[in-house]
Amino acid sequence: MAPRGRIPSEVDVVVIGAGFAGASVAAALTRAGVTSGLVLERELLPGSHASGRNAAMARQLETDPTLLKLTIEGVRKLRAKEVAGRPVLCQTGGLYLIHGEPDRATEWRTQLHEWCVPSELLAAAQARQRFPFLSRFEFDYTLFCPTDGVVDIHALLTDLLEEARSAGFQVITDCGCESLILDGSVVRGVRTPHGEVGARIVVDAAGAWAGHLGRLFAPLPLKCFRRHLFVSGDAEFLPRDAPLVWDLDVGYYVRPEGAGLLLCPCDETEHPPGMPAVDPEAEALLADKLLKHAPGLADISLRRSWACLRTFAPDRRPIIGWDPDIDGLFHVSGPGGFGMTTSLAIGDVASTLICGGVVDWIEVGSFSASRGALRSIPQCNN
Ligand SMILES: Cc1cc2nc3c(=O)[nH]c(=O)nc-3n(C[C@H](O)[C@H](O)[C@H](O)COP(=O)(O)OP(=O)(O)OC[C@H]3O[C@@H](n4cnc5c(N)ncnc54)[C@H](O)[C@@H]3O)c2cc1C
Repeated sequence: MAPRGRIPSEVDVVVIGAGFAGASVAAALTRAGVTSGLVLERELLPGSHASGRNAAMARQLETDPTLLKLTIEGVRKLRAKEVAGRPVLCQTGGLYLIHGEPDRATEWRTQLHEWCVPSELLAAAQARQRFPFLSRFEFDYTLFCPTDGVVDIHALLTDLLEEARSAGFQVITDCGCESLILDGSVVRGVRTPHGEVGARIVVDAAGAWAGHLGRLFAPLPLKCFRRHLFVSGDAEFLPRDAPLVWDLDVGYYVRPEGAGLLLCPCDETEHPPGMPAVDPEAEALLADKLLKHAPGLADISLRRSWACLRTFAPDRRPIIGWDPDIDGLFHVSGPGGFGMTTSLAIGDVASTLICGGVVDWIEVGSFSASRGALRSIPQCNN
């Protein structure tokens, strides 16, 4: 089958993958003045995997201080972003449910306050008075973050690719990168089923498949975990602009989706790269959590479900940096469960490093592809 677009023979940068990682890096590179580039996407449509199938929530709550900074910067950029005159982020707010004493929330508030992110700690009675739908949930306290919200992920992804395209990048779908062209340990381009493309720099933003290109001798130690999402029938009790609700202790979340709800049991099962099938066990897990902890939702009817993969490095920090062994190969992978929220921040960090600039607002060493947490035992390819 022919690719969607004409393969160029030579560009400065090839980006592998048209998910949020690849699209945001490509767009940021064009903002930095790189206009000769190609985004290659194996699927017919960009966002066919995690980037088009996620929960679309922008949450600024992370226990790891480095990730917290990255999510806060990501949300700050999302807040400033408009597509066709409309903000991509709808600031519904986020309600994070806590069982027992709120010590952890008090610590989070201090961290959020340091970065000027507003939050309020509400006891259950006070929270239910303000948000009556919370009577359906069991909890003792909730941390309310009014600047969290829900993103129009399709508008955002399309806009990032369009930004790259209009500045000179080509975006070619239905055309996977098969391998790197290497001259010793130096990148010279990529091979595709439709021809070779010369390039000085290749960005591996291949999501669940990342970390293997050119590194069959020692793939980066990324792991994928399957997670399910469900959409319910109508749920009139929840206003359509209600905050997302996330029970961090039990592990489930709920937010408005159309006239119903989007629900997630926060399941996490290791899975090889691919498009995972729905496992009926996930619905049973969700039903069990709701019955015990949100009895007011236990009888909600579920209309559809899907599963998708989140990709993590062992320390759960993204990988943004040059390959330690192959000159010209740059990694943007492992954004885990916050790759949409952080996409604009990750794109900027990556493009600054690719262009030889200095990132001074976050410790980029903690994202390096050669950091200690990524050292893996080389595999024997026999
Ligand atoms: C159920 C679920 C809920 C989530 N909810 C949220 C959320 O609420 N908020 C949030 O911020 N994040 C969320 N995430 C995480 C977020 O979706 C991901 O972190 C992000 O989308 C990853 O983007 P990516 O570009 O790295 O990967 P992908 O979106 O997987 O993109 C990688 C692309 O590379 C392509 N590709 C792979 N190999 C090749 C090749 N050899 N040649 C060409 N193309 C190739 C793939 O086809 C794919 O399109 C969620 C994830 C899941 C699974």
